[in-house]
This record gives sequence, C-alpha cells and structure tokens, in this order.
Amino acid sequence: MHKLAVIIPAAGSGSRMQKETPKPFLQLGDATILEHTMRRFSGLDCLSEVVIAAPDALRERAFDMIRPLLAKNVELHGVKGGRERQDSIYNALRQVGKADLVAVHDAVRPFVRPKHIVQCCDVAEQWGGAVLGVRAKDTIKRTNEQGIIVETPDRSYLWQAQTPQIFRRDILLDAYEKAHREGFIGTDDASLVERAGHKVKMVLGSRDNFKITYPFDLKVARMKINETEMRA
Ligand code: C5P
Repeated sequence: MHKLAVIIPAAGSGSRMQKETPKPFLQLGDATILEHTMRRFSGLDCLSEVVIAAPDALRERAFDMIRPLLAKNVELHGVKGGRERQDSIYNALRQVGKADLVAVHDAVRPFVRPKHIVQCCDVAEQWGGAVLGVRAKDTIKRTNEQGIIVETPDRSYLWQAQTPQIFRRDILLDAYEKAHREGFIGTDDASLVERAGHKVKMVLGSRDNFKITYPFDLKVARMKINETEMRA
C-alpha cells in the first residue's frame, strides 16, 4: 500500500473574510474549520504524515487541534507560512519524509469526502497526478484587458479545480523546484506540475467541497454543519 503525506496550507491572512482570526481557526459547529478538515483525512489507512503550514503564533494551537485526531504512527510536522500559498506549500513539501504520494489540501475545505480522497490517490498512483474538481457550471469567457471577450472555450472540457490535489512525491518536488528556480507563481499545485511536463488527471468530486473564502461561504458552511448535526 502507498504512504500518503498530507500538506495543509493554513497560513493565509484571511483578509477576504474581514476577520482578525485566520479562516482555518474560525469555529464551525463543534470544532474549528481546520479540525473538520483534518477529520476527513484522519481515518485513511494510508495516511503516514501530516505537514501543516501555519502562522508562527498559531502553530502550537494547530498542533493541539490536530494531534488528537491522528493515529499514533502518523507523523506531524509544522512549518512557517510563506508570502504566497505556493511558498507555504514549498516549505511543507521539503519536510515530507517517506511518503510516496503527497496530497495538498486547503485547510478551508472541510467538506471533502474521504471516498474522493481515495479515488485521487488511485489516479495519482496510475497517472502521476490527480486533481479533484467539478465540471464548469457557467459558460466561461476569456477577455482582453478591456473586458472584451476574445474566446468562449467549449464548456464540456472545462472544470473547476478544487483540492485535494495528489501527486507522486518525486513529480511534485520536481515541479516545485522548477517553479522556484524560474520564479513562476501558479494559482494551484497542478499548474506547476503541468508546466513541468507531467500528466495530471481530473477526478470528479462534488460541489459541497467548496473553499471557505468569503463571509458568505462561512454562512453556508455553518448552515451545512447545523443540518448535519441536527440529523445526527
Ligand atoms: O487565500 P486562499 O483562499 O487561496 O487560501 C487557500 C489556503 O491556502 C488557505 O487554507 C490558506 O490558509 C492557505 N495559505 C497559506 N499561505 C499563504 C496563503 C494562503 O498557507 N501565504
């Protein structure tokens, strides 16, 4: 069986949320967003390591939240956050020890389904890289600087990329080192891997794996959690 390391970038400033506390540390029902997210991974048999990137002042707290959720044989490391999400992940990636697969999952996607994580692992083993996502719902336009449409790509080939994004460790490291050398900043991990010439395959997930970015997303997340707790 493969060994999976999970990198959790949780070092964002949370400026779009208009709150002092960074998003992963906000409360969602009975636990923080970070704890809910971690619970989605903690039951996986293949999990061998967790590396969390968190602000200095919150790293201890993040450890206290995560450690009790992990089996004893799962290693837990913490690293400093970087200026960009990509820098935080690069710091974390250099801490990964023996795992052959590496998943990157946003701390602020607490509704990912474990069966989708497993599917991504299988696809990553076979193809080298896997990205969970959903098919584009809206028609997407590409414009020039004036907002004039220059292209309407065929929607049947368009996806919205989520996380986890799971890769063979050697491939992800190669992609991050290349991006670092060349000063390239991408908006997700797969874009670095694609750019380094490796194959990445999309895996169909679900729309409830949304990223808590804006205050509206937090409202929806709280409604969803209340619904789940009422049903339990
Ligand atoms: O800002 P955005 O919503 O894209 O952040 C996605 C994830 O990346 C969040 O979990 C956030 O905490 C993390 N992040 C990070 N380091 C940064 C910026 C964002 O770990 N410099």
